Amino acid sequence: MSRFTTDLINGIQPYTPGEQPGDKRYIKLNTNENPFYTSQSAVARISESVLRNLNRYSDPECNELTKAIAAYYGVEPANVLVTNGSDEALAFAFYSYCKSGVCYPDVTYGFYDVIANLFGCPIEHIALEKDFTVNFENYFNKGKTVVLANPNAQTGIELSLSNIEQIIKNNRDNIVIIDQAYADFGNCNAIGLTKQYDNLVVVNTFSKSRSLAGARVGYVIASENLISDLKKVKNSFHPYNVNSLSAALATEAIRDENYFKQSVKCVKEGRELLSKGLVELGFTVLPSAANFVLAEHNVICGEVLYKMLKTRGILVRHFNDKRISNFVRITLGTESEINQLIKVIAEIITEKNNEDCGN
Ligand SMILES: *Cc1c(COP(=O)(O)O)cnc(C)c1O
Repeated sequence: MSRFTTDLINGIQPYTPGEQPGDKRYIKLNTNENPFYTSQSAVARISESVLRNLNRYSDPECNELTKAIAAYYGVEPANVLVTNGSDEALAFAFYSYCKSGVCYPDVTYGFYDVIANLFGCPIEHIALEKDFTVNFENYFNKGKTVVLANPNAQTGIELSLSNIEQIIKNNRDNIVIIDQAYADFGNCNAIGLTKQYDNLVVVNTFSKSRSLAGARVGYVIASENLISDLKKVKNSFHPYNVNSLSAALATEAIRDENYFKQSVKCVKEGRELLSKGLVELGFTVLPSAANFVLAEHNVICGEVLYKMLKTRGILVRHFNDKRISNFVRITLGTESEINQLIKVIAEIITEKNNEDCGN
């Protein structure tokens, strides 16, 4: 800390991202990236002409990408705002709508606490049920902004679209933000509801299902009035928020429906393979609708397993939060990565059992 900080900076608790190791080649299953490459037609968009235009600013309206997203979901371009990753979309939405209070589950995406604290938004954590599901009735008539990741971060558990709609209906005078970072891997999508409900903000990203985490592209879909609020904040903070390379990549990625469908299908198949393998090894696996699973072993605690996997070249994520500290979160890799993980965990368990027998 420098000698120039004020209480404002001293009090900040920044987000702790998952490790992005540069030192050694790990099987990387810790930050919910897509194991499959970015769409080849998206990569092909980065042609000479795109590169030759880098002396010009990017389009502050992201017109081409905005139109492609609007066409994909059957909404108007005025219902779409493109952002620098969905973290930026969340920041704009928290700044706009959470100053007088925000509520979300006690186990969810850690960035919500960070951004709420940065902007001084009073936070209410609502406990998940014992089985880690969201009790949707706990979110009725809150009189403050409701934020829900669906499927939920860390647990992977999904709330049905009708439950989401009930939450929106029972909060007509405050905003409901649905963070759909993992929705493409699940069974429901709230974007269609933005036509009916003027209090709904749906936040989406290209980072997970579109294999573009490094490009940093997210977007909001909401009623026209909400989008104009958020645009005002965006243009006050970072008018050229999305660079031209990332906008070109994302525009093509959302048009490449075949590749998208195929890679999402592979991730879902991997989820079945991994869940089954873990259960056979004595894990409890929460029912995931996302591209990761949260799993707890009946003998080896989460932190020990995380460390033992890391020394064996596999990175998973462990969280210190009390309710999930005995779990590890494992991002779905390719089929061969999943098989390798299962093999290594089986070896670790055998080792442990032998130790316990005094061998
Ligand atoms: C990964 C993630 C994000 C952030 O995504 P970016 O678009 O890469 O900023 C937002 N919300 C949740 C729940 C996530 O898991």
